This record gives sequence, structure tokens and C-alpha cells, in this order.
Amino acid sequence: MRTHGKAGMWGTPDLAVRMEYDSGKLGVEHKFGLRWSEMSAGLQVMKFGGTSVGNAECIARAAQIVAAGARAGRCVAVVSAMSGVTNRLIEAAKTAQGGGGEAAADAMDSLREQHERALRELVKGEAERDVVRKKLDAVIAEGLRFCEGTALLRELSPRTMDAISSLGERLSAPLVAAVVRELGLKSEAVEATELIVTDEFHGGAEPRMEETRKKSQARILPLLERGVVPIATGFLGATAGGELTTLGRGGSDYSATILGAALDADEVIIWTDVEGVLTADPRLVKDAQTIPEISYREAAELAYFGAKVLHPKTLRPVVQAAIPVWIRNSFAPEKLGTKITPDGRSIGGGVKALTAIRDVTLISVGGPGIIGLPDVVGRTFSTTAEVRASVLLISQSSSQNDICFGVSSADAQRTVEALRKEFASDLDHHKVEHIRVDPQIAIVAVVGQNMCGTPGIAGKTFAALGREGVNLIAIAQGSSETNISFVIEEQAVVRALQALHGEFGLGK
Ligand code: ADP
Ligand code: ASP
Ligand code: MG
Repeated sequence: MRTHGKAGMWGTPDLAVRMEYDSGKLGVEHKFGLRWSEMSAGLQVMKFGGTSVGNAECIARAAQIVAAGARAGRCVAVVSAMSGVTNRLIEAAKTAQGGGGEAAADAMDSLREQHERALRELVKGEAERDVVRKKLDAVIAEGLRFCEGTALLRELSPRTMDAISSLGERLSAPLVAAVVRELGLKSEAVEATELIVTDEFHGGAEPRMEETRKKSQARILPLLERGVVPIATGFLGATAGGELTTLGRGGSDYSATILGAALDADEVIIWTDVEGVLTADPRLVKDAQTIPEISYREAAELAYFGAKVLHPKTLRPVVQAAIPVWIRNSFAPEKLGTKITPDGRSIGGGVKALTAIRDVTLISVGGPGIIGLPDVVGRTFSTTAEVRASVLLISQSSSQNDICFGVSSADAQRTVEALRKEFASDLDHHKVEHIRVDPQIAIVAVVGQNMCGTPGIAGKTFAALGREGVNLIAIAQGSSETNISFVIEEQAVVRALQALHGEFGLGK
């Protein structure tokens, strides 16, 4: 059933479509209404995160949403692994590396069992089940071979880690496609090795957009023309030579916007387990609320500074073509969620949201001797670039004694090792006195495009933190004035976020 509704709750485009599907067939009790942001015969790329395909009931709900999208226009889905699966795969790979071949094989068996159980619950026909089971078995068999090889050699290359950690998406996509077929549509799982061309940086590969565009259009457009709904694996891609790569943890969001841009989609919808981008992490600030509209720049700052709801690189592919990105709740599809647009819409007051990255390590390179070494800054940051550590914040004291910067703790060890190598001879000759590491650090960011031109925000921020007794270790404000970010001790994060959320009146 389709009826034209009124404007979205937040004044989003005026065509809202309500669709109802009887989901009883799949064992999901309720009927739900889906409100589309827009009704268009255009192309939507929809991504479903781990919790949105976390069990049979969630997969059924995701398939309903995909089917509704495909009935309204053209729809390509991108799916994550079932929640927790990627962690278990990484664990299994490490166990195999430690010689635990059998334990890794057990982990593979339990994954097979989990996916087959979902298959039994979701797909009724034996013949159809058989087709999907064969596919799942083939993926698990590959996983077993990778783990066996790893256990034998006790060596886990980044390339093998990518092959193992991406198995979860290769298992979930055929399941989702099968359930979309159960709903009466044509649907096919597509492995993103056939769509996304990347560089060779395993574990955090970057897309090559021109080649990705050619490849994904050649593979996806004929499917759409035949009325087939493609269900692509998130998280992974392949080099031009065909070697599987991954885009980094949480990278399925990035997969969705890469495909959105490559296919000239009208919009990208990221279906997750919260109602959009909230004013703060709802696990840390109880009265955080949905932001109806936010700009690319604001959302990118939030993602960059740790808001898990978006992978930090998510918005890069869509900025140029100005493709809107929605963040919506797959558990409450009737809600509109957040729309991310080129300009966002002001809500007044300047500050839109807060965020924090907790696992940060502060690294400082310095000592009085570095005054005479004009290239220390250059060498420091070409080293961080070489090891692809993303530098979250930089501060340098005016006496130039010390350059201090924050990196994600996952990047810290390789960054410090590379810096020690780079500055080995300077350290020996005491030109550089120290490379110091402080791991118990967090970065908090106050974000809002309208902050620029709203005086007093920094003052209010630091006054509120002072009242809470939060000690500031370093401060940075980008010249764009879209954020103020500062370094504090990790244990003060929740206090700082709650104090600032109240101070700027962001709560419900
Ligand atoms: P998915 O599996 O769908 O990719 P993630 O777990 O990666 O979902 O991201 C969604 C989670 O991000 C939410 O459950 C929420 O706890 C967390 N989160 C952190 N900061 C924010 C924020 N500002 N707005 C919304 N969610 C946030
Ligand atoms: N499954 C991958 C991960 O857990 C990618 C994703 O879910 O976005 O990191
Ligand atoms: Mg995610």
C-alpha cells in the first residue's frame, strides 16, 4: 500500500510515503509503517549495520525495508556481518596464528551453525535453503583453509587477516538476499571484490573511485535493469589485481557511500540501531536526542572525533556529488532519523553535538635540542603518514621544545616504533631528548558549524569543565571553527560530556 503523506517531521522533503507490509510470514509479529524521506524512482543505497542483521528477526526486518525500497524505486543494499561476527573472526585468526588451529576451526563451525540457524528460521523452501547453505558452506570452507594455513605457518599477514575478517559479510549477504527473495522479489548477493577497487593497504584500504565507478556500474546496473535487488557485502573490496582488502573496522558505512557515489545514487540510507546522529553518545549521555539535520562537515567532525554511528571516512565519497545521507533506526523505521546534507540546518545556539574518542595516546617528540632542528615537525608527520596513523590533534608549545599529538591507541605502537627509527641518530646525539607516550587520554570535541560567529563558546566550554574539576591537558580549535577539541584524562570523559551537554542545552 502506498499513500502520499505530509512533510517529514523536520521539514524534510515533502513527499513522504507510507508502506505497510505484512511481516507475519517471517515470524516478525508486528506490522510496521515505513516513512520514506522521499519517494523517488531514483536509486537508494541502503546499508544495514551488524545489529540490524544481528539475528533472524533483525534480518527479516532489514529485508522488509530493502523490499519496500525496491518497490518504491531502485535499491541496492550493503550489509555488515551479523553483530559480533567480525570480532570473533579476528579472534579466530589470532588464535590460529598462536598455533590454535583446532580452536579456530571450532570458531568457524560455530559461525556456520549460527548462520544456518538463521537460514532455517528465515527460508522455508528446502530447495532454496540448499542453494544458500552451499554458498555458506563454501565461505566457511575458505575460512577453514585460511585458518589452517595460518596455524601451520604461525604467521598472519595483513592480507590473510583481511581474508578472514571479511568472511562475516560474505555470510550475511547471501542470507539477506534469500530473505528478500522470500518476499517475492528477485535478489542476488554480490561480493564487493567485484565492485570496489582499492589500493593495497590491507586493513584500511582506500577506494580508487574511477575504477570503482566503472566496475560497480558494470556489475550492478544490469541487475537493476532486470529487476534484481543487489545485496552487496560491506567492509571489503579488492585491489586492481583482485586481492581482497578491507576498509577498516566499521567500514561498511564507507562501502555504502563509495557505492552511492559510484552508482550516482539519489540518497544513501544508513540503517543502524539508534534514531540518527544524536547530540552525544547515548550510552554516555542519557538525554541525548536526535539531530534532525546536520551538515557534511559537522557529521564528518563528529565521526572523526569518535561518534561510532559513522565511520570517519563515510562522507568523503558523497561530498562532491552532494548526495544526501540519512541515518535511520532499522528497529523503528517509521522514524525519520537524521539527514546529512551539504549545509545542514541551523538549530541556533551554535553547538550541535559533542563527541569523545577514548582510546587515545598522546605522543610527544621533543627536548631543548629540537630548536636547532628545523625539520622535526616535517619528519614527525611524514612518519605518521607513512604508517597511516591518523593524527587526531596537534599542539606545539611556542618555545618549540615539544611537539605533541594524539593518535588512536590502536595506531600508537607502530607510530612510536617508526618515530624511534626515524629519530634514532638524533636521540643518540641528544638532539631529540625524548619520544614520550601517554596512553590514558581522551579527546572531547564540541561541534557545530554556527559556532563560528557565535562568541563565547570556548569560554562557556572551559568554564563548565572548570566547575566539574576536569583538567585540560591540551586544546585545539580548527581554523574552520566547526569544532573545539581538547585533551583530558580518560576517566573524566563522562563527567565532561554530561557537563557540556547541560551547559549548551542539548538535552531533551
Ligand atoms: P552499526 O552496527 O549499525 O554500524 P554502530 O554500533 O557502528 O552501528 O554505531 C551505532 C552506535 O553508535 C549507537 O548504538 C551508539 O551507541 C553509538 N554512538 C556514539 N555516538 C553517537 C552519536 N552521536 N549519535 C548516535 N549514535 C552514537
Ligand atoms: N563488520 C565490520 C566490522 O565489524 C564492518 C562493519 O560492520 O561496518 O568492523
Ligand atoms: Mg558501524
